[in-house]
Amino acid sequence: MEMYYDKLPKEYLFVEVGKKIRERKDVIDLSIGDVRLPLPKAVCEAGAVAARELASVDSFRGYPPESGFDFLLEAVKGYYAGRAELQTDEIFVSDGIKSELNMFLDLFCGAKVILPTPTYPAYVEANILKGNEIKYCSAPPAEKADLVILCSPDNPTGKVMTKAELCEWVRYCRSCNATLIFDAAYEAFADGAIRSIFEVDGARECAVEMCSLSKTAGFTGLRCGYTVICKENRLNPVWRRVKSCKCNGVSYVTQRMATCALTSALPEIRANISYYKKNAEILLDALDGADKCGGIFSPYIWLRCGEGGFERLLSFGVGVTPGVGFGEAGREYVRINSFCFRSEAIEAGKRLKDFVKSR
Ligand code: PLP
Repeated sequence: MEMYYDKLPKEYLFVEVGKKIRERKDVIDLSIGDVRLPLPKAVCEAGAVAARELASVDSFRGYPPESGFDFLLEAVKGYYAGRAELQTDEIFVSDGIKSELNMFLDLFCGAKVILPTPTYPAYVEANILKGNEIKYCSAPPAEKADLVILCSPDNPTGKVMTKAELCEWVRYCRSCNATLIFDAAYEAFADGAIRSIFEVDGARECAVEMCSLSKTAGFTGLRCGYTVICKENRLNPVWRRVKSCKCNGVSYVTQRMATCALTSALPEIRANISYYKKNAEILLDALDGADKCGGIFSPYIWLRCGEGGFERLLSFGVGVTPGVGFGEAGREYVRINSFCFRSEAIEAGKRLKDFVKSR
């Protein structure tokens, strides 16, 4: 039997890049976008308290409610306050965007899908596995689609979409009855810009926002996120029904930790984001004069350095992600991320300065 699997690239981008970087000594690894700072103590304590509750017959819990515990749904609702007014039955707790997206795409098998270019490779692979027809567009096309996936702040370019650009996409999706998946994984970096698609008029009817505590709160290892589908969207009851047959939710302990991160520990969570943003500022300064974007509302800097940039930067002791891994449009670029310790950002900055001077 032929499988869609046969159409996947041999290895997932980040696995290949990681192997090449680990082969070299004295390289500062700014490739894979994984967080480095530990969780706030209060978040870990919330997890410890929750774990102890499970040891007592009165507070033991089994399967969690399929859309999440009320306390976390309320915390997410509060997190959006001032940006978008949500009801708790418009929020679905998930174990992160990657798996949620893959499950959600089961509703769109054989669909026509629009993806940005360059783009996060997981979107491409998830759609290949559903047998979907992918079209790469940076603005709404003339022809119709079933699904559009947007990411802002974007991985890999670090760009933030403007309200006008998002309005255009919302208008397009409504005109052809398409669903817009808005990946808000990096929203916490975009203070001062649009962070939620629900800040745009008309989005409640057509958009599905997927967000995650991975980058917002350092939960890449813990695994917790949420999806927002407003009640004006026909997919709200659909997802409630379908999700319950696909997974059994996120653990009580993790949901308690996520609640703490989005409420009482929010100032510390925000301080961690500011730390990474300062790293990005140091790296951007080092790249003064180079052709680049991102790094302001995003942990990513997208640097144009011609073909072979990955190997050349490696020879300067900086590990990055080759842009071509995000599609042909990225062939002359590399992605640099700021999820590192300050000392690494400072040293990488010196090496990047030498790299820029050498060109
Ligand atoms: N979406 C984007 C754009 C990402 O860059 C990433 C991870 O790097 C994810 C989603 C994955 O998020 P999660 O950890 O919630 O699965």
